[in-house]
Amino acid sequence: MKIFCIGRNYVDHAKELNNPVPSEPLIFMKPPTALLLNNRPFFYPDFTQDLHYEGEIVLRVAKNGRSVEPEFASRYYDAVAFGIDFTARDVQDKLKSKGHPWEIAKGFDRSAPVSRFISLEELKNAQDIHFQLKKNGAVVQDGHTRDLIFTFDTLICHISRYFTLHKGDYIFTGTPAGVGPVQIGDVLEGSIEGTELLRCAIK
Ligand code: ZN
Repeated sequence: MKIFCIGRNYVDHAKELNNPVPSEPLIFMKPPTALLLNNRPFFYPDFTQDLHYEGEIVLRVAKNGRSVEPEFASRYYDAVAFGIDFTARDVQDKLKSKGHPWEIAKGFDRSAPVSRFISLEELKNAQDIHFQLKKNGAVVQDGHTRDLIFTFDTLICHISRYFTLHKGDYIFTGTPAGVGPVQIGDVLEGSIEGTELLRCAIK
């Protein structure tokens, strides 16, 4: 399976990191070894001093497809989960400043905690999903997918122009404002429409 991630897909987050708002989706990938499932703890890596959380809605791809047309895009995903795109921000900044790929800052082992999935049919409005990330009990990110620069359908069309989608692939759809550092001992909790789905203790 593949894990696609979208950078800078909320205007307020692009601005908080002083990045330009993209004119087309910014795609990167994490390998399957990045997955951290079943609310297992996350062990702070030794190669970073500035590990950041990015709380995101994760789409699950429902069927195989290439070059999907917009009118069919919504058939290609069927469920959402809460995910964290852990980022070694110091490593990423160094790589970005040299114009290098940022894989090691984003795709390292267990950098992608993902909760259980909930079917889109269970949500009252799949076009505007409300999600929140708490750090040690305080809300640090509060997002609505109505604020996405590129919608779920647009992401399906765009990604599938370059990469064949396979049933079971994941798409991290981007993070809203409020990203920040974690320390050993912190606990992150992610919820969708008020239902807590993800819990991640930093060890
Ligand atoms: Zn992200």
